[in-house]
Amino acid sequence: MAINLNNSEAPIRENRLGSVTGYQGSIKDLVNQAASCSLKNKERCFSQASACSSGCAQSYLSRIVDAALVVHAPAGCAADSVYSNTQNKWGEKVRNWQHRNISVITTNMIEEDTVFGAVNKLKETIREAYRRLNPKAIFVTASCVSGIIGEDIQSVLDELQEEIPVPLAPVFCEGFKSKVWASGFDAAFHAILTKIVKPPQKKTNKVNMINFSGSARNQIVETLGRFGLEPVFVAPYSTVEQLSQMSEAVATISICGTLGSYIGNGLEQQFGVPYVKTLQPHGIAGMDSWLRGLGVTVGKEQEVEAYIREQKELIAADLAEIREKLSGYKAVVGMGPSFGHNYIRTLQELGIEVIWGATWHFDPQYDNGEAPASIQNLAAADTDIPLSVGDQQNFELLNLLNRLKPDLYVARHGGSTVWATKLGIPSVMIADEYSAFGYQGLIDFGYRLLDAVTNRSLAKNLSKRIKLPYTAWWLEQDTFTFLEDEVI
Ligand code: SF4
Repeated sequence: MAINLNNSEAPIRENRLGSVTGYQGSIKDLVNQAASCSLKNKERCFSQASACSSGCAQSYLSRIVDAALVVHAPAGCAADSVYSNTQNKWGEKVRNWQHRNISVITTNMIEEDTVFGAVNKLKETIREAYRRLNPKAIFVTASCVSGIIGEDIQSVLDELQEEIPVPLAPVFCEGFKSKVWASGFDAAFHAILTKIVKPPQKKTNKVNMINFSGSARNQIVETLGRFGLEPVFVAPYSTVEQLSQMSEAVATISICGTLGSYIGNGLEQQFGVPYVKTLQPHGIAGMDSWLRGLGVTVGKEQEVEAYIREQKELIAADLAEIREKLSGYKAVVGMGPSFGHNYIRTLQELGIEVIWGATWHFDPQYDNGEAPASIQNLAAADTDIPLSVGDQQNFELLNLLNRLKPDLYVARHGGSTVWATKLGIPSVMIADEYSAFGYQGLIDFGYRLLDAVTNRSLAKNLSKRIKLPYTAWWLEQDTFTFLEDEVI
C-alpha cells in the first residue's frame, strides 16, 4: 500500500502491513504463510503489560534537539520520558555534547477532562511550550484518553498555527489502536513527512541515516566519505532544519528495517529519494548487503567492492579465532522483528547455534509491498529455526527459556534480559543498535558474547537467590498455552 501523506495519520501496522503479534512455528513456515497471504494473527487470552506506540513515538521524537514535544495525555503516559532522558544523555555523551534535558511537556489530563474535554488545556500547553522552550517545531502526541474522548487535536493545531510561527505537528499514536508499538515510529515519521520535510530545492551528496543513538557515526562518516557521501543521522540528535532537507538526499539508509520502512519508503514515493532496502549492516553478510545496496543506488559499486575486500582481509584471522571459541554454544534471540532476524544471522556468522527466535511482532511486508530482506535471507537457508511472535510477553519467554536452557539469551530490551539472568541464563542486552555493526563490530561483539558465556557467575548466583514470580506449575506448562487458535 502506498504511503498517503494526504491523510492526517498513518494507518497502524496491523492494517497497513498485515503485522501480527501472535504466532508460533518456524521461520520457513512463517514466510510461506506470509507469501500465500494465509498468515493470521493469534490472540492471547492472557497477556502481561507491554510497551505502547505513544511511548515509542515520544521517545523517538523527544531527542530531536530543537523541537518540543507536547504529550496530550494523563501524566502517566509521559512516564517513559525518564527513560528517554537517560537515553538522551547517553547519545549526548558519545557526541561529547553538554547535557540538556529533553523538551517534553504533558497536558496532564485528569478525570474531569475526560468529561468536559481538554482542548483549552492543550492550547495553553502548546503556547507554554513555545514560550518556554523556543522550539523550531512542536510535536503533539495523542494518547488513549485523548483518542477515546475524541479530542480534535488537528483543529487545535490548525487554529494555533496562525499565532505560532513554527510547524505544529500532530502525532496520532494512541496506545490502544495498535498492539505493535512500532506503529509509533510510523506515526512519528508521518508527522515529520507531512509537517517538517520540505520539497527539495537542490540535490546533495547527503544520505539520510535513519537510526537511534548514532554511536557509530564517526565510522559511518569515514566509510561513506570514501564514496563521496555525507551521512545525516536522523531523527534523534538531528535538528528540525536537517529533517526538513531529507528530501534533498541522494539516498536513505537505515540501521533497522522496522524503523526505516515508513520514512524510507515515504521519502522514495513522495520525493524520489531512493531507499536502500537490504539486510541490516550487522555482521558480514549484513554489511556486504547494506554497502552494496548503497553502492548500486549512488553508482559507486567498484569503490564499495574495494572497501569490502579491504575490511574482510583485516578481520579474517580474528574472525576464525572467535568463531572457533564460540562454536557449539546455543542461543535464543528475543528482539523486535528486524533486529531479531538480523541478529539470528549475525550469531550464526559467529559460529553460535540459534535454537529459537522470539520477535516482538512480525511484518509480512514493508511499505514497498515486499517481505523484509532479513526474513527472506533466513528462509532461504538450509536450516529452519523455531520462531515465535509475541509483544514481549515475559511469561512466555521465561517458560521457553526454562525449557530450552540455552547457553545465552541475546535481546534488545532490558525488561527481557533481566528475567533471563534471574533464571540463571547469561544474557546480553543490545542497547546500542550499532553492536555487531559491520566487520570489526562483529569481532568486538563476538568477544562480548564470549565474555558472557564464559563468566556465568552473575546469572548463577542471582538465580540461586531470587524467587521468580512464576510458579513451578506455569514453568511446566506448554509455552503457548494462552495463544489461541487462529480465527478462520
Ligand atoms: S497511550 Fe494508552 S497505552 Fe500508552 S501509556 Fe498512555 S494509557 Fe497506556
